[in-house]
Amino acid sequence: MNLKTLLFTKNACYLTGKTIIPKGIMVHSTGANNPNLKRYVGPDDGFLGVNSNVNHWNRNTPDGRQVCVHGFIGKLADGSIATYQTLPWNYRGWHSGGDANNTHISFEICEDGLTDGTYFNKIYQEAIELCTYLCKMYRLDPMKDGVLICHSEGHKRGIASNHSDVMHWFTKHGKNMDTFRAAVKSALSGSVASASSSDTEIKIGTWVEIKADALNYYPGGKKIPAWAIRDSYHRVTQVTSKDKQITKGGKLCVLLGKKIKKSDNLKQAGNAEENGINSWVDKDVLTVVGDFSETYIVKEGDTLWNISATKLGKGERYLEIKSLNGLTGDTIKIGQKLKIPMK
Ligand SMILES: [Zn+2]
Repeated sequence: MNLKTLLFTKNACYLTGKTIIPKGIMVHSTGANNPNLKRYVGPDDGFLGVNSNVNHWNRNTPDGRQVCVHGFIGKLADGSIATYQTLPWNYRGWHSGGDANNTHISFEICEDGLTDGTYFNKIYQEAIELCTYLCKMYRLDPMKDGVLICHSEGHKRGIASNHSDVMHWFTKHGKNMDTFRAAVKSALSGSVASASSSDTEIKIGTWVEIKADALNYYPGGKKIPAWAIRDSYHRVTQVTSKDKQITKGGKLCVLLGKKIKKSDNLKQAGNAEENGINSWVDKDVLTVVGDFSETYIVKEGDTLWNISATKLGKGERYLEIKSLNGLTGDTIKIGQKLKIPMK
C-alpha cells in the first residue's frame, strides 16, 4: 500500500471533530469517471497534481454538500496508485447518509470508466491492503457480519442511503464483496505469521510515524502536537535505558530522538535529519513507515565502527547497524551485505 496523509482540515466534518469507536469499514466508489485523486484530495502536495477547478473535498462543504470520508484510493499525477488518509480513522465521517457514520471507517475508490481491468486490479489490491491495515489497527474481523461492507450492502442493512457502490463496478471484473472480504481475511492470516518479521519490528534506527488518531505520547503523558503526526517521520534512537525496557502509563515505549519532514523524499540522499521530539512514546501509537536503508557490501579491513563512521558520520552509530541487521556480535565478513540506516 502506498499510504499518504492529507487531512481535510478545512472540511466541516473534520472541524466538527466528533469521534467514534470504529466497528467496521464501509467501502465506497465515487460514481464519476475520474480516477485522479486530485479531483477529491487537495491542495497539491507535489504528488497529486494541481486541481485547477479547486473542487476537491478539503473545503468546508464541497459543492455545498456535507460530505467527508476517511480516505481515497486513486491515481497520482504520475499515474501510480496511492491511498490518502483524509480524516483521522476514529473521526465520525459523513459518508453513508445513515447510521453507518457512527460505526464505520469509510473510503472512496476513484472510479474510471469501469472497464479498465488493469486499473481495477490495482485499486482492488490497494483497497485490500488498506482494509487489512485497518482491521489490524482496530482488531476487526472482516468476515464477521456487517463489519467489512460496501455502501450498497449498508443500504440493505438499513444503515446507509440507496447507492449501488461498489457492486456495480466490482462485478464487472469478476469480483464482489465476498471475494474482497476473503482476500482481506487471507492477508490478515498471512500477516500474523510475519508479525515478528524484522521489517515491521520497531527497534533502534526504525523510521516510524505517529498514528493519526493518537492523542498522548503514552497514557497519562503529554498531548501529541498536531505537527508531530502531520509533518514528521521519526527515528527511534533508544529502546532501553540502563538495559531495561521503558514502560510508561502501562505501555512499552521507545524514544523518538530524530525526525525528518514527511514532505521530503525519504529515499533521496541528503535528506536533512533534525533533532526529534525526544520523548518516550507508546509503541502502539507508532507505525513503521518503511525501510530507507541502503545496502553496503563489507570490504577487507572494514569494521562496524569504521563503516558507521564513513556512512553515518559517527562510529557510535554502529549499534544501529547491528540492530538493523539483527547482529548479535561485532564480527563481519568480507562480502557480507549490511543494511545501513539513513544518515
Ligand atoms: Zn458510497
